Amino acid sequence: MTQVRNKQVILKDYVSGFPKESDMNIADSTITLKLPQGSNELLLKNLYLSCDPYMRILMTKDTTAGLGAYIPGSPLIGYGVSKVMESGHQDYKKGDLVWGMTKWEEYSLVPATGMCKIEHTDVPLSHYTGILAMIGLTAYAGFFEVGTPKKGDNVFVSAAAGAVGQLVGQFAKLTGCYVVGSAGTKEKVDLLKNKFGYDEAFNYKEEHDLNAALKRYFQEGIDIYFENVGGKTLDAVLPNMRVHGRILVCGMISQYNLIQPEGITNLAHIIYKRIQMQGFIAPDYYHFYTKFLEFILPLIREGKIVYVEDIAKGLENGPKALVGLFSGHNVGKQVVFVAHE
Ligand code: NAP
Repeated sequence: MTQVRNKQVILKDYVSGFPKESDMNIADSTITLKLPQGSNELLLKNLYLSCDPYMRILMTKDTTAGLGAYIPGSPLIGYGVSKVMESGHQDYKKGDLVWGMTKWEEYSLVPATGMCKIEHTDVPLSHYTGILAMIGLTAYAGFFEVGTPKKGDNVFVSAAAGAVGQLVGQFAKLTGCYVVGSAGTKEKVDLLKNKFGYDEAFNYKEEHDLNAALKRYFQEGIDIYFENVGGKTLDAVLPNMRVHGRILVCGMISQYNLIQPEGITNLAHIIYKRIQMQGFIAPDYYHFYTKFLEFILPLIREGKIVYVEDIAKGLENGPKALVGLFSGHNVGKQVVFVAHE
């Protein structure tokens, strides 16, 4: 039986405040490349890993989010793209490519239930950490199913140059909406306007009055706010919403590292403007995945959608890539390349 090195990214202990690279360490473990006798799991070679903001929530002990928590001393768990080396499950065979829940290590033994077989390989495999996986489905279900957009709607997207944001802006343009995005650097603002097709974009870090910034771009108010950041941005958006506007609450990244979350002062506008504000999570929409692929694959193949990835090379650079999400280091979808097929 072949025993090989299995490099891992281990969470040292629960995290308080902003995560740091030093909250994780790279460990050299070993693994036998053989399924245990009678196992119905999958033995995977991990190729790409996805860096996602929710992973920070899992680094907190006793989180109230109900998402569970990582176990200190164990590798991080997250979405990834992998190759099946051995299968104990009838639906998978050696050589299959899959995306789903794996571990931050070179080789993993995982239940087959968290996996989805990759059927279309004419597009980059790394896309199955993002646009063709949980991220794409989040943007699609959030915008179209929860948001029910109409042509001509005024749409605002925060964290607009990130994984989800870049897609939502383009979905809004395909629907015939007017769309404005906010992001944290000039480079990202340029990308929003010149690559992702946003009508307007601004750098929220350079606006000391977010309310005034929103008024500048939305003289008639916002119909749909795709919420990725929470905090001060949400507070500034509320009075700028139109009557019967919708706030699609995807994430609140500005709050994940705070020991005491910020308060929102403008909630009464939910009444004045009869705003619908709804949270959603991607797993509730996994039954839409086939329909979603039928929608998104032709757009990718025909070059009608642009998708930017920020790929860190090597598992050892995973911690830096992951913590970089919280300082806006990533441009587009943050991925970690682990190994070639
Ligand atoms: P991402 O946008 O690719 O990366 C995170 C970005 O957030 C950073 O690049 C940074 O961009 C911005 N950011 C970080 N700290 C911030 C702060 N304090 N204030 C404002 N912006 C900040 O990440 P993503 O994967 O697309 O996720 C975006 C949001 O969607 C997150 O809130 C995430 O939790 C949520 N999400 C939800 C679901 C779901 O199922 N509901 C699924 C996926 C993601 P700047 O340079 O612009 O600051």
